[in-house]
Amino acid sequence: MEFVSTRGGVRCGFIEAFLQGLANDGGLFVPAHVPKVSKDELKSWRGLSYQELFLKIAAPFVGDEIPEQDLKKLVHDSYSTFRSPEVTPVQPIADGLYVLELFHGPTFAFKDVALQFMGNLYAYVSQKYGEKIHIIGATSGDTGAAAIHGVKSKEGIKICILHPHGKVSKVQELQMTSLLDDNVLNLSVRGNFDDCQQIVKELFSDVAFKSEHSLRAVNSINFVRILAQTVYYFYAYFKVADDSMTEEIHFSVPTGNFGDIFAGYLARLMGLPAGKFLLATNENNILERFVNDGVYRPENFKTTYSPAMDIQIASNFERYLYYLHGEDGTAVTRIMNDFREKGLIAAEGDTLRRVQSDFASYAVSNAACLETIKDYNERHGYLLDPHTACGVAAYERTFKNGGGKCVALATAHPAKFDEAIAECGIRQTFPEPIAELWDKPQRMTVVDSDKQQVIEQLLAFFK
Ligand SMILES: *Cc1c(COP(=O)(O)O)cnc(C)c1O
Repeated sequence: MEFVSTRGGVRCGFIEAFLQGLANDGGLFVPAHVPKVSKDELKSWRGLSYQELFLKIAAPFVGDEIPEQDLKKLVHDSYSTFRSPEVTPVQPIADGLYVLELFHGPTFAFKDVALQFMGNLYAYVSQKYGEKIHIIGATSGDTGAAAIHGVKSKEGIKICILHPHGKVSKVQELQMTSLLDDNVLNLSVRGNFDDCQQIVKELFSDVAFKSEHSLRAVNSINFVRILAQTVYYFYAYFKVADDSMTEEIHFSVPTGNFGDIFAGYLARLMGLPAGKFLLATNENNILERFVNDGVYRPENFKTTYSPAMDIQIASNFERYLYYLHGEDGTAVTRIMNDFREKGLIAAEGDTLRRVQSDFASYAVSNAACLETIKDYNERHGYLLDPHTACGVAAYERTFKNGGGKCVALATAHPAKFDEAIAECGIRQTFPEPIAELWDKPQRMTVVDSDKQQVIEQLLAFFK
């Protein structure tokens, strides 16, 4: 299949879009045409395993660029590392509310679902085409851990991850810094996640630097991540909906960079009968303000219990703008240039009404997040991590009495964020792979929030 940039300036195939990550015109890749899934096809997919479903969904996007047998092996290898045979099991936890557990991969967060696959795909492309793979990414904690675990001990790949110094959870820090492989560089940046993301974005925007050093992306700017994440929306739908394939199921998504919720939106464009997407944010609520007031404008950064959602600028939002504005790359370019100059994107009238028919949104306070964790632990015997709790709290306050079933995406295991769980007065037992992290030595390099310092580290690392 052909892919196009949201700014209209680049067209290429699947593997090239995967390798470019951020398109060379500064936009993000989307499929030139969204493949449609018919009701009959949906019905025939219902009994498939996670891996089989992945292959059906990915087929039209990958086209003939990867032989079927190779893709099959990649998919099976990627999900053999998960602790649940279902990969992403669905649990009913309250009347009308289901939790989609996305945290059964190696680092206990949903990022594993895409990054186990991407790690194998990078290794495959490196072997098959002799491509040099230098992965660089910014993380608020989970992406970095999952990306490093996705490529560890894979030949031909080096990975450098920037995380905000002292602003990731202890488990996240240990997961990233305790793999002492020589192909891993952890840069701990004195700043916040947006500073890290900004440096990485600038490095990728420098097309000469990017191609000279074969920079590759693992952030959700990479379309392959989005593609891998559409699979569990279909999977969950089949677990929860009746046989008619017309029942509308809502999804509540704890949102940061808009990658995960965009994957759901793409699933609906493909024909999944999803109802509303509930965009749950924490107190960093730029996206909530956009959905409810039509104004997208960064404000002051707040520290919360759900650091993976502590963002001011959502890198995937541009993909939604592309569809909102009729797949018009020129319009998106104008909007993004305006945003750079004025720091604002506004939607009004019919455009805002469309946004509000696609999404509902709620911003969850720190206090409400903790209350929800306590409440669900007491009343339903289910321990939510603070990100998932934002999704569930948003559901409680918006959809609960509105009818219909809702699937809340559980994006992390509570053991990853014990700081918040302990704050609720709850003591949890850690799963073995997390408990043993504390005994491991760590390795990381602390740098200022300064592009030049990062470049110096990179040049030494790539040598
Ligand atoms: C990354 C992450 C999110 C946010 O996902 P986006 O795709 O950035 O919207 C939510 N919860 C957890 C635990 C995460 O790791």
